[in-house]
Amino acid sequence: MVVVGGGAAGLMASIFASRAGARVVLLDGAKKIGAKILISGGGRCNVTHHEVTANDFNGNRNAIAKVLRTFDVAETIAFFESIGVRLKREETGKLFPTTDRARTVLEALLGAARDVDIRVDHRVTGLAASGLRDGFVVRTAHGEIHAPRVILSTGGRSVPKTGSDGFGYELARSLGHTVTPVFPALVPLVLPDGHPLTLLSGTSVDAELSVRSPNGKVVARVRGAMLFTHFGISGPGVLDVSRHWIAAQPATLTASLLPGETFESLETAILGEARRNPRATVASFLRGRLPERLLSSDVLSKLTKDERRRVVRNLVELPLPVVRDRGFDYAEVTAGGVPLDEIDLATMRSRKCEGLSLCGEILDVDGRIGGFNFQWAWASGKLAGEKLVDMSTNAL
Ligand SMILES: Cc1cc2nc3c(=O)[nH]c(=O)nc-3n(C[C@H](O)[C@H](O)[C@H](O)COP(=O)(O)OP(=O)(O)OC[C@H]3O[C@@H](n4cnc5c(N)ncnc54)[C@H](O)[C@@H]3O)c2cc1C
Repeated sequence: MVVVGGGAAGLMASIFASRAGARVVLLDGAKKIGAKILISGGGRCNVTHHEVTANDFNGNRNAIAKVLRTFDVAETIAFFESIGVRLKREETGKLFPTTDRARTVLEALLGAARDVDIRVDHRVTGLAASGLRDGFVVRTAHGEIHAPRVILSTGGRSVPKTGSDGFGYELARSLGHTVTPVFPALVPLVLPDGHPLTLLSGTSVDAELSVRSPNGKVVARVRGAMLFTHFGISGPGVLDVSRHWIAAQPATLTASLLPGETFESLETAILGEARRNPRATVASFLRGRLPERLLSSDVLSKLTKDERRRVVRNLVELPLPVVRDRGFDYAEVTAGGVPLDEIDLATMRSRKCEGLSLCGEILDVDGRIGGFNFQWAWASGKLAGEKLVDMSTNAL
């Protein structure tokens, strides 16, 4: 069989197909395999999360849950341990290799794939199905390969220089699949040029970010760190909320810099403080709760009612006039893709094309930050590899 795309999902599929007895040829267009694994998690590879549920993902959650159940976190930890990667859990719940090196993960996966015929610099330019008996003709720059079965694991469009440039969607379409609109997820957001918040570059705050539709309804709320940068905003909270802001366009984004406070609770607290201590300033009142750089030295008791309300509004509903996202070059994941209802989720086999299976980020699934996207890739890849072999009458 041929596996197209040797990222996290394709490597898992290859390992488990070859363990099940298949002869596997893995084709990848990149010159070196595993670029995305190497840059993941800041070079440390956040392999998974100590708790993974379908609620950590966007997409059809019932469908996602079916796949996640087939390879849970405990099995993932045991699998990596079995190939020589011990994982450690950090305070955030994220699991990393104890070496803190993504290369440990990649090398172990490549070791486990030693029986797989891995061909790098083999970009697949076309896939034609010629019926179950005849299988597929896989076109590459180096000629054609005939394969009775194909697994498509070409990823999405995020960070295209790693090899995942979205061409896999064309391959899926050519075999009868549809592709929902794709857009960047887990992506930093850009503020207008010279916006005052960009002067706070380097400052990070705990924030509750809210996406509102034009009628004011909150369509998404995410709590997490927001990092101000020279172009706008980033950090885990912003990355998590980004796909919701994009999907809800035209939508607005605001941040509460004091999660848990409401406009009323904060105004009451400020008035109380101004009465108790006439010399209290915004800075002294909020010291310890917000970084110094964010705080003004305005004296609370001297603020007019309107000024006080503006300060409070900015603390609990700071407008973030995002002009755009930073695009696929900076997105960790791609939202959208091949819909899960075109896949038999017990096996990852295509419902549109006999002999084809799909796994990983090419599918319409994206997870929040924290190891969830890899967990999807591991689980769906393993299932695709194991079950494609099951269906064959010979060992492929
Ligand atoms: C900077 C960054 C950091 C990340 N950090 C984390 C993290 O710490 N934890 C986490 O869970 N997730 C993380 N992610 C997300 C995670 O890396 C992906 O969700 C996951 O790698 C997707 O796996 P995949 O195998 O489906 O696709 P990919 O890893 O994108 O692999 C697809 C492969 O297919 C190949 N390919 C594409 N088209 C063709 C073609 N036509 N012919 C042949 N080969 C082709 C590509 O070269 C590539 O090797 C991060 C992503 C980025 C960009």
